[in-house]
Amino acid sequence: MLQDSHHRTINYLRIAVTDKCNLRCQYCMPAEGIKYVAHNELLTYEEILRIVSVVASQGVEKIRITGGEPFLRKEMPYLIKEISKINGINKLAITTNATLCKDYIDDLIPVGLTDWNISIDSLDRERFHSITRRDNYDTVIDCIHHLLQRPEAKLKLNTVVMKEHNIEDIIPLVEMTREHKMNVRFIEEMPFNGSGNEQASLEWNHKKILSHVQTAHPNINKLKDPKNSTSFNYQVQGFAGSFGIIPAFTRSFCGTCNRLRLTPTGTIKTCLYDKGIFNIKNMIRSGATDAELVLAIKEAIRFKAKDGFEADRIRRGSNSNLSSMAQIGG
Ligand code: SAM
Ligand code: SF4
Repeated sequence: MLQDSHHRTINYLRIAVTDKCNLRCQYCMPAEGIKYVAHNELLTYEEILRIVSVVASQGVEKIRITGGEPFLRKEMPYLIKEISKINGINKLAITTNATLCKDYIDDLIPVGLTDWNISIDSLDRERFHSITRRDNYDTVIDCIHHLLQRPEAKLKLNTVVMKEHNIEDIIPLVEMTREHKMNVRFIEEMPFNGSGNEQASLEWNHKKILSHVQTAHPNINKLKDPKNSTSFNYQVQGFAGSFGIIPAFTRSFCGTCNRLRLTPTGTIKTCLYDKGIFNIKNMIRSGATDAELVLAIKEAIRFKAKDGFEADRIRRGSNSNLSSMAQIGG
């Protein structure tokens, strides 16, 4: 079992399989994009599968594939199928911008990829275009509808709330849950846009988002949040689906954090806000045994920061900038 010094059990690994992306979401990347890493810097699928086996042997049960845009990595569905065969992994999830995945859905649900988080920041084609700097609205909506036709798929929509861009989308997104059994999650914007500029405060925080929804829908029930949830969940009375709010900037969920992160280049992170604890790819490429990998992972987890504020303080102390979220995996 992987346990940190704050009595948290770590049983969930998020793997960013690429830093490449075909969108340029304003909160994630600059318009010109980021400098992508060279292919030989990326973990190979063989290395990723070995890492998953190693952490699964220590109690990790859930894997999320993310990126960059995961479906841009060649043969990515192969990786998912292979992960699904690893002993101990009983939950498979993905976060995707839904521009490239429609043709894979029917193949991947049967191997166990049931949790689909789709990022969509606006239900208005022009606003979608302006936020993502690309014109992919129809493809994304088409993919969402395809997933809605698969009852085995657990669908969540991720929306980053941005003062200047999509406040008018909050209520229409909640409205989608009237008929559809999905969970729409509003995420506080974090300073991971690759610019190096870190905002000190946030106007549209979780409280303001909730009170905005309450003005349109006064009859909201608080739902019981799933274990280790990062979102506060609610349901408008009589609606089929639900909505959640993720205080990603306010960071009030760290006390139940069960996550470990693996970046495309093999850096192990124990918190989104840390600068990276060690590089497991370098260890693998220098011939480390599985036992040595386990030891290094255990040691990293033992020193997992109490919360995102502590991780952030340590990172700042070493003068390290926050990356683009595409380089970490959101
Ligand atoms: N490209 C895929 C996507 O967009 O779903 C997966 C990678 S993306 C980095 C993962 C998640 O991080 C997305 O839901 C995205 O909205 C979120 N994200 C990216 N930058 C963010 C930021 N600065 N603040 C909050 N969430 C962010
Ligand atoms: Fe790409 Fe996802 Fe970042 Fe948008 S949030 S630029 S889709 S990685």
